[in-house]
Amino acid sequence: MPHPTSNVALSHTRHDHQACIADALTRADALCRERGLRLTEIRRRVLELIWANHQPTKAYDLLAQINAERGNAAPPTIYRALDFLLEAGLIHKIESQNAFIGCAVDHDRGQPKFFICRVCGGAAEIQSNEIDRAIDREARRAGFVIDHQTLEVDGLCALCADQSEAG
Ligand SMILES: [Zn+2]
Ligand SMILES: [Zn+2]
Ligand SMILES: [Zn+2]
Repeated sequence: MPHPTSNVALSHTRHDHQACIADALTRADALCRERGLRLTEIRRRVLELIWANHQPTKAYDLLAQINAERGNAAPPTIYRALDFLLEAGLIHKIESQNAFIGCAVDHDRGQPKFFICRVCGGAAEIQSNEIDRAIDREARRAGFVIDHQTLEVDGLCALCADQSEAG
């Protein structure tokens, strides 16, 4: 079996998830410092909540959690924080679920791509310049100008596949 790339392996297997969260927040701090962006307390907390697991998180669940923590946050506060995080590339939107996931790879220009497990709901970000290049090439060939690209592949993650075999 080929050795899986670390991000895909990580999100879909048992691992120290506290380390994932800590790592994501450290990367966010560094990125914001580098670009002169302000990671306010609410933006940081929203990011942390999104990183609570590898399943995409819905905006209304974030709102409920933030409200439980700090009284009534206005929905626009959450949506503005989400917009900021999306814009900064710290999170991505999973279009098929209308939910959000933390960015797990370094990509300067490549579009996000995901494997999404239909059992546990885990979304693993795939990093592949090859896919980006293939899409660019086909677009050029077709004279097509890309605005936005969504690549979400559904299936069964390694852990859930193992369990369904064992069961
Ligand atoms: Zn993790
Ligand atoms: Zn990403
Ligand atoms: Zn799964």
